[in-house]
Amino acid sequence: MQTVDLKQQILEEVKPYFRQIDEVSEVNTLKILDSMRELRVSDAHFKPSTGYAYGDISREKLDELYAKIFKAEKALVRTQFVSGTHALATVLFGILRPDDELVSLTGAPYDTMQTVIGHAHESKGSLKEFGVSYRELPLIDGKVDIDGIKKIVTSKTKVALIQRSRGYSMRDSLMIEDIEKICAAVKKANPNCVTFIDNCYGEFVETREPVEVGADIIAGSLIKNIGGGLAPTGGYIVGRADLVELASYRLTAPGMGDELGASLGDPRLLYQGLFLAPHVTAQALKSAVFAAGLFNRLGYNTHPLLGDKRGDIIQAIELKTPEKLIAFCRAIQKYSPVDSFAAPEPWDMPGYEDQVIMAAGTFVQGASIELSADGPLRPPYAVYLQGGLTFEHAMLAILAAAEELSKL
Ligand SMILES: *Cc1c(COP(=O)(O)O)cnc(C)c1O
Repeated sequence: MQTVDLKQQILEEVKPYFRQIDEVSEVNTLKILDSMRELRVSDAHFKPSTGYAYGDISREKLDELYAKIFKAEKALVRTQFVSGTHALATVLFGILRPDDELVSLTGAPYDTMQTVIGHAHESKGSLKEFGVSYRELPLIDGKVDIDGIKKIVTSKTKVALIQRSRGYSMRDSLMIEDIEKICAAVKKANPNCVTFIDNCYGEFVETREPVEVGADIIAGSLIKNIGGGLAPTGGYIVGRADLVELASYRLTAPGMGDELGASLGDPRLLYQGLFLAPHVTAQALKSAVFAAGLFNRLGYNTHPLLGDKRGDIIQAIELKTPEKLIAFCRAIQKYSPVDSFAAPEPWDMPGYEDQVIMAAGTFVQGASIELSADGPLRPPYAVYLQGGLTFEHAMLAILAAAEELSKL
């Protein structure tokens, strides 16, 4: 079949799902708009500051805004976080003490988090070096073992780590209702155990966020969903006031916490990016749904399927051969607004066992809310596709990738 006909057919099929995505985006847009109105955000909050930046109104207002949107007691939103991993690690190092125990309830965590924890492989400066013990509850058929929670979470467990997104694996992403059940099971096993959600890629995919359903603290990256494609760098932590405070002493220094830290560059981008985030997340979700429909029709396994519930913006497609994986990533790169002339090559990325290929022709370096694709060179040669600032762009690039694959 001609790609043009196929495109029209898939666009028909995705309509009901796009409508649901638009509805979620509208609810989240209203939530942000109302918060910005109630907190009287104004031009004065978009100015940078210098030095210690005591009483920086840009920083303080943004923290207030995030706390309100997430229905949390306190927030720490900073471009001083170099990435999502930094924000997540700051929570763990902020709360955990020697001899404490951490458990992961969603199987093996995201690769960079394994390095922070230090139990899967040796890593300098890890939690393990500080005497924090660690255990993992394996997933069952890609799902959390709810019954297993009461066995793994004991009176000794200080923090339970729960990863919302599939990350780069074939497991399911968690829906907010799943997070609610998991948090309830943790609190039943040990009311003092802190429920900590890795919220990366999950923001604004649904109308509620983890703190509303029992999470004590959550963290994520500003160059994913919540930065709306405009945030130049950074991370956030929101949750219970006492826990966010502990994290703030790890970000800066004991006694200093959240009271210092200059708003560098153009703080407006963090506000404007947040305002755009529900819409941009919707664009990314539509791109993922379209890719699932198209590639499934072309005979590839996709995870999730077109109509499946989604708790994150990631779309996995099993491409079956290394040639196809490479061709897919090259096509995405070729149809990117930035560095379109570069041809991605598989490389030995630190922390990964197999070679990895990545396509990211993004305005913000490595921003995966912008259209990007990557995958490890091992069977089933799955490509992980995410982002898309506009559905139109993502669709064009996805169609081009399908065209390239048809030539192999
Ligand atoms: C992106 C991501 C992180 C953090 O990655 P950074 O590249 O450091 O921002 C952590 N966990 C998950 C599930 C992620 O998707």
